[in-house]
Amino acid sequence: MPDIFLDRDGVINYNRTDHVKSWEEFEFLPGSIEALVRLKRADYRVFVITNQAIINRGIVTPAELNYIHLRMLEEVSQAGGQIKAVLYCPHRPEEKCGCRKPQPGLIRLAEQEYGAQVGGSWLIGDHLDDLTAGERAGCRTMLVLSGRSTQASLEGRQLQSASDLAEAVEIILRVRSA
Ligand SMILES: [Mg+2]
Ligand SMILES: [Zn+2]
Repeated sequence: MPDIFLDRDGVINYNRTDHVKSWEEFEFLPGSIEALVRLKRADYRVFVITNQAIINRGIVTPAELNYIHLRMLEEVSQAGGQIKAVLYCPHRPEEKCGCRKPQPGLIRLAEQEYGAQVGGSWLIGDHLDDLTAGERAGCRTMLVLSGRSTQASLEGRQLQSASDLAEAVEIILRVRSA
């Protein structure tokens, strides 16, 4: 069974230019929880992969970030959805790690740690760096316009796109059943 890889900010929750630094600043996007429930009902496993350089910048601690993710997972599972795991890159860009998107390291980690299946999988993100990471790992990719990218920012590039996670999931389930 192929898996779904989701970026976090701008896909599941509102992107904040000043970063999500606490649970109070975490706000689900409209329809994102319901989209996760649909994926669960369709037996997809969902992995969240997210760049969180605010860790190594010293803006939030790993414990604070883990708490945000714990609460996120709780809300999703209370609604009937499931996120299998959250994998994050703590590094600053200048550290040149292999896990900060557009590098595919977090997807590789999901394969190693959780047996994630990249063949036939989808990566959904709100930034071209997310899609590049997915392409490098061998995922199909979809851009959502609920975060940092707009229709205009695509500049005519031929990308599969959706307005938000709800529409992205609609497309994925339709493609699968076609
Ligand atoms: Mg994002
Ligand atoms: Zn990293």
